Amino acid sequence: MDLERARRILIDSISHDIKDKRTLLAMSRVPRERFIPLELLSSAYDDRPLSIGCGQTISQPYIVALMTEALGLKGREKVLEIGTGSGYQAAVLAELAYCVYSVERIPELAETAARILSELGYKNVQVEIAGDQLGCAKHAPYDGILVAAAAPSVHQTLIDQLCEGGRIIIPVGSRLEQELLRVTKLKSGIRTERLGGCRFVPLIGRDAWEE
Ligand code: SAH
Repeated sequence: MDLERARRILIDSISHDIKDKRTLLAMSRVPRERFIPLELLSSAYDDRPLSIGCGQTISQPYIVALMTEALGLKGREKVLEIGTGSGYQAAVLAELAYCVYSVERIPELAETAARILSELGYKNVQVEIAGDQLGCAKHAPYDGILVAAAAPSVHQTLIDQLCEGGRIIIPVGSRLEQELLRVTKLKSGIRTERLGGCRFVPLIGRDAWEE
């Protein structure tokens, strides 16, 4: 099983839909196999979500690419990810932004993700255990927020943590299916764009779903 080759084939297939070169390059640099359980190694570059324990999943690579592209990162941004999970999406963001904060509500996942990211040499990512409030107001405002779990709505708490001109990429809908949205904070309010259907595990907690 040649993982390097599998990774190239996956990126090539994603590139039919995702045209942003920086996103594709970032994904070609991050070893997804390091973020999954050993027994799933041969599936590391399948274009699908995989179980990472604690009832959670590492997102499908195509969705990671779509969400990353939608953030439109240029390299100087401060970004927040909500839902670290395995840490894979955080690594992709770290390739593209100035600094990344990622919050996770399950301490075990946060610890494993932080360890792998550090072993891979990412110095511009900080993983934190989520507090009671949605997001991470402590380090706000952010140029971009990527929500990697399904939200019932775009809560004002998140808009408040964004810079003017900043954007949130977020799956919004029911617990079972959602639509991916890009919400941009403007002087006069917000602009919402629809990016297509998707399925995420639920965002849990205050201003989101009950456990
Ligand atoms: N981005 C991840 C996949 C995330 S799966 C990756 O690349 O692997 C969604 C994650 O969101 C789960 O790990 C879940 O525990 C976490 N989560 C759910 N609600 C949360 C909340 N309110 N704050 C932080 N993390 C949350």
